[in-house]
Amino acid sequence: MNRFFVQPETIKGETVEFPADLSHQIIHVLRLKDGDRVEVLDNSGSVFSVEIGFNPAEKLVQGHVVKSSSASGEPDVIIKLCVGLSHRDKIEWVLQKGTEVGVSVFTPFISSRTLVQSSALKPKRRERWESIIREAAEQSGRGKLPRLMDPTSLKDLLQEEKSGSSLSLLAWEGSDPDTSDLNEIIRGFYGSRIQLFVGPEGGFSEEEVQIALANSCRVVSLGNRILRMETAAILFPGLVLYLVDNPLQVL
Ligand code: SAH
Repeated sequence: MNRFFVQPETIKGETVEFPADLSHQIIHVLRLKDGDRVEVLDNSGSVFSVEIGFNPAEKLVQGHVVKSSSASGEPDVIIKLCVGLSHRDKIEWVLQKGTEVGVSVFTPFISSRTLVQSSALKPKRRERWESIIREAAEQSGRGKLPRLMDPTSLKDLLQEEKSGSSLSLLAWEGSDPDTSDLNEIIRGFYGSRIQLFVGPEGGFSEEEVQIALANSCRVVSLGNRILRMETAAILFPGLVLYLVDNPLQVL
């Protein structure tokens, strides 16, 4: 099923007026026909099943809302994934796969060992990264578009989280898998927001781990193997979301 995020004003009552770019995609790229069904999302968590109709003489596609429901792909817990800013292709991979897995906010950070030390996100790059997120959200059936925050310093992020009431977890390969059991931590969690920190290729420094601990961030292991940052950035939210939904019962 083809899914499209649209601006909320595109949906007027039971009519959807597709903008020019989506109309072009529907007619010329996807070659959909009059009467075909698509799903339309207004970024509020609702999904509208829409029958499209168009007059070949006109360039804009109109749709008729047949049914609306909540998007089943939207997780109940908001996961904010903070990752070390890396080369473009790695970050793009994390944005795409992280959206599929269920991340709601992406915050790239600069730390002592990040390969990229400049925090400015050029408008063209933001546009490209947001379109990667949108396509992954459409493909995977998300009901809301994950947000992309501007890159910021790791220390600021860790300190800012201290004031919040949500759970913060930092993945560190130096922590003991037996004393930082992710399942135990998740079983005791009843909130709605979780921040996850994954370090850059060079990892977190000892000092950064200490700052995290001093700011009420729990430091956890992802197992006995060293994962690449992009692997950890997908596995970590995937594991957390799985454990939130299916806390393992220890008998
Ligand atoms: N340079 C480090 C590895 C960094 S891996 C080394 O070679 O030892 C990049 C990031 O992935 C780490 O900062 C951490 O956040 C995460 N990571 C990788 N493997 C992990 C593991 N087994 N447990 C927890 N976090 C891990």
